[in-house]
Amino acid sequence: MTIELQDYEPIVGPSRIGEIRALGRHLQGVRMLHVNSTAVGGGVAEILRRMIPLLREAGIDARWEVLEGDADFYRTTKSFHNGLQGLPVRVADAELEHYLEVNARNAARLPLDAEVLLIHDPQPAALIHHRHERSGTWIWRCHIDAATPSRPLWRFLGPIVAGYDASIWSMPQFTRPLPHHQFLVHPSIDPLAEKNRDLEPEEIEAVLDRLQLPRDLPFVLQVSRFDRFKDPVGVIHAWRLASRYVPCRLVLVGGEATDDPEGAEVIAEVRAAAGDDPLVHVLLLPPTADLEINALQRAAAVVLQKSTREGFGLTVSEAMWKGKPVIGGATGGITVQILDGITGFLVHSVDGAAYRIRQLLSQPDRAHKMGERARALVRERFLITRHLLDYLALVQAVRTGSDDVIAL
Ligand code: UDP
Repeated sequence: MTIELQDYEPIVGPSRIGEIRALGRHLQGVRMLHVNSTAVGGGVAEILRRMIPLLREAGIDARWEVLEGDADFYRTTKSFHNGLQGLPVRVADAELEHYLEVNARNAARLPLDAEVLLIHDPQPAALIHHRHERSGTWIWRCHIDAATPSRPLWRFLGPIVAGYDASIWSMPQFTRPLPHHQFLVHPSIDPLAEKNRDLEPEEIEAVLDRLQLPRDLPFVLQVSRFDRFKDPVGVIHAWRLASRYVPCRLVLVGGEATDDPEGAEVIAEVRAAAGDDPLVHVLLLPPTADLEINALQRAAAVVLQKSTREGFGLTVSEAMWKGKPVIGGATGGITVQILDGITGFLVHSVDGAAYRIRQLLSQPDRAHKMGERARALVRERFLITRHLLDYLALVQAVRTGSDDVIAL
């Protein structure tokens, strides 16, 4: 079933859809190209999958291309990711060379001649070296927390990013001193996607049965790539402390994005921390498991996103949209979604997370109220219709060269 713009009207109201259509009318046929590094897995692919058809419906001639790299390339770009998020990383000259070569190969393969190009994250950033006169405005879209990057790494990546005409960031504090306009756009979730649509109780039950998840105790959930910045081991420790007082299970759901080579190591760390505890369920689900994630987020008593660094954290809005108060690491984009004590809890430690798990499990009425406020906040700020409008406004702004007023 094709989802259309008008299907969002009952959720966000007619005026939002009207704004999108009005702006879209000014932008009919504008060619826009998005390039990222993976077709499945992780938040960027999750957004693009839904954003491209909606941009097209609004009138933009939007396309999405995926970079092709090899294992060495993704190891290097994982180091970039870690280094941008503040870990001390060493990247050898040969690896940097290979990164540039892979980008050059992709530049030869991809049609880089759009009017507006949105290049997502560091993996395809060096495509900018291959811009040609027919291609229009190049914008680097940074989805990660690059506030305190490793210095040697930024000496390499900084000049590449500076070559862009503009950049987009998920949080104001992530931006870098750069010689171009920087835009702030929060990511979003799609309320009509399989991952977020309303489910009947029987659909939820059927998923829990299929996953063989016992219903004897409430469960705490974290859904995340197995990445150390998501702190899955910290989640196990926090759950263990809390479950001494309030009996509950822990469900850790993950998969592997194709551009994340560290996943297997982190899964091993998680399994070691979980031991043979029958109350801990580590579920490796394929990237197509949207219905399963939806059902788990709805069935969970408490949802965690205990990240230590997070560009945005779509999983937070996903769970909030399902009326869950989320306990999240007080970092990056999580802090605009979780208003501490109002739509969830922000935590700084394992002990803090354990305390809040206990509290939410033992005060279901309070948890329910927080969950209602959480859903309302997502409706107002973090749905794909707002994101779509931001992108249309951005295209309009770069076309007219205007920084401020967007004339409808
Ligand atoms: N996700 C998934 N399966 C998994 C783990 C994550 O489908 O096993 C989804 C999750 O529901 C969310 C996205 O991947 O939609 C992760 O986005 P987020 O911004 O939370 O983190 P990122 O992976 O981009 O750092």
